[in-house]
Amino acid sequence: MKAELLYEGKAKRVYQAEGKSGQLVLSYKNDATAFNGVKKDSFDGKGRLNNEISSLIFTALHEKGIETHFIERLNETEQMVVQTEIIPLEVVVRNVASGSITKRLGIEEKTHFDKPLIEFFYKNDELGDPLINDEHALYLTSATPAEIDEIKEKALEINKQLMDLFQSINITLVDFKLEFGRKACGTIVLSDEISPDTCRLWDAATGEKLDKDVFRQGTGDLIEVYKEILKRLEAKA
Ligand code: UDP
Repeated sequence: MKAELLYEGKAKRVYQAEGKSGQLVLSYKNDATAFNGVKKDSFDGKGRLNNEISSLIFTALHEKGIETHFIERLNETEQMVVQTEIIPLEVVVRNVASGSITKRLGIEEKTHFDKPLIEFFYKNDELGDPLINDEHALYLTSATPAEIDEIKEKALEINKQLMDLFQSINITLVDFKLEFGRKACGTIVLSDEISPDTCRLWDAATGEKLDKDVFRQGTGDLIEVYKEILKRLEAKA
């Protein structure tokens, strides 16, 4: 299924798909990192859980008419996607304050935003993924002004669909990070993954954290909470 290894990131390996030009195999690893790679560990089963969770979420987004790079889940830890050129932006959408924004702007954790907030971070490990504004994004990436607007509109639409999806399984979607990629034809589509590694997900009734914060903060069992997310999504699918 896969040929040459093109790239290895913190959570996934990316291979050229065998005999299928323009397609990639994403292979999910068991590694977890936090604080820009300073905290590291490995959890048996994490790759499978994130592959299955992300596949279910991308499939749900397709059903709502949102175009993405996702083609199909191949097996426990791999999925086939359309090859895109990743735009080096981490697009964060926030519905509730948590994480970096609470420290940066002094906003109290759990504050609800009436209107979702969008932030851009420059995807660059050496620089520690700094927060940037739209003008920096225009300077640092191939995106045009119209495409920056399009990315924001898509991020808000994805937020709406994900909020509905998670609400239906009694989870508050606090915030999440998206990445977009450019297809060979030029169109920009949602890429990368959506999983408890890239979202903050709180149980709507108890407020329990069901995402990578249990690893970041050392407050719980990562595999158990990721299993809980998958179980609820599967019950819904
Ligand atoms: N996030 C991510 N990758 C990153 C940084 C953040 O997936 O490299 C996600 C994170 O899981 C959270 C959201 O983006 O759901 C906002 O993260 P924040 O800016 O609060 O950063 P943190 O304090 O988590 O590093």
